[in-house]
Amino acid sequence: SSNKNDKDRGVNVQVLLRCRPLSEEEVRVNTPVVISCNEHRREVSAVQNIANKQIDRTFAFDKVFGPTSQQKDLYDQAVSPIVYEVLEGYNCTIFAYGQTGTGKTYTMEGGGRKAKNGEFPNDAGVIPRAVRQIFDILEAQNAEYSMKVTFLELYNEEITDLLALEECSKFIDDKSKKPIALMEDGKGGVFVRGLEEEIVCTANEIYKILEKGSAKRRTAETLLNKQSSRSHSIFSITIHIKECTPEGEELIKCGKLNLVDLAGSENISRSGAREGRAREAGEINKSLLTLGRVINALVEHSGHVPYRDSKLTRLLRDSLGGKTKTCIIATISPSIHCLEETLSTLDYAHRAK
Ligand code: ADP
Ligand code: MG
Repeated sequence: SSNKNDKDRGVNVQVLLRCRPLSEEEVRVNTPVVISCNEHRREVSAVQNIANKQIDRTFAFDKVFGPTSQQKDLYDQAVSPIVYEVLEGYNCTIFAYGQTGTGKTYTMEGGGRKAKNGEFPNDAGVIPRAVRQIFDILEAQNAEYSMKVTFLELYNEEITDLLALEECSKFIDDKSKKPIALMEDGKGGVFVRGLEEEIVCTANEIYKILEKGSAKRRTAETLLNKQSSRSHSIFSITIHIKECTPEGEELIKCGKLNLVDLAGSENISRSGAREGRAREAGEINKSLLTLGRVINALVEHSGHVPYRDSKLTRLLRDSLGGKTKTCIIATISPSIHCLEETLSTLDYAHRAK
């Protein structure tokens, strides 16, 4: 968490909690609400009082966003400061973590309303807002910069490039599709061989790329019969900024922002998540489990950080730990029917603090 010890510990992990509102349908059928959010105290309580089952638990987070919180509130309070860090040359990652249907994609991408006369709709999510802020700041500084983006999906430890897929149907038939592979660069880093990198010059170009990529994600899901709940998507923006020191020396600052929409947390069993061990049946989501262990290791400052145990953590290695900032947005539903998964998410997220 972002307390004063962060500098000493050399770790900066912030954990936020967001609770979505009941859907119209849930309201219509009078779904009982079991979650209450106290934004001021930064606490979330889960309360259920049924004769034989009493639950009353409260969890504290770095920030709490209740059901009436707006996309702009979350962005301004939680994400905007991170964008400034990226432009200072930090590698930063924002994760959305939670059960399927709790608002991960809503938070990261948005609710799907169309922009009107170039203005964002209220439901625009973290990604378009971050893109706009980055361009606004660079333009205002009159900076000399270059920017590139990648957009990929990780499903069953396999990488799909969401920028390269021209036609999804073609992709499926085409056995000679570009092989995407995670390679070691020999210096402790990794790179993705065959991954498309698009150089972008305006915010509009990125919005188009993002739209194309997420449309492809949806089509690929349907065609390949994948469940989006089991895949992670990673949208990364890398920025190089040319700067002059007061002595007139030129230097290049490089920062990176990763925006990650994780697989649904119901894909890891509760016991597996709690004990930090891969105890789930089969290997449903190695990356999600490993991410939890990596974050625990970073927060607890334990010697061994198991980056190498999954593709997700290998991919994000240069942005997790060391001189980096990490923000986890845990998303939950207020409904009584989700209580078990909600408690599991609250436990996972709380442990990451
Ligand atoms: P996930 O990606 O976690 O599976 P979604 O982002 O698809 O969940 O959200 C599920 C549904 O709930 C969507 O219809 C979405 O628009 C709605 N929703 C999620 N979070 C919010 C919110 N904070 N405010 C309003 N609607 C939301
Ligand atoms: Mg989603």
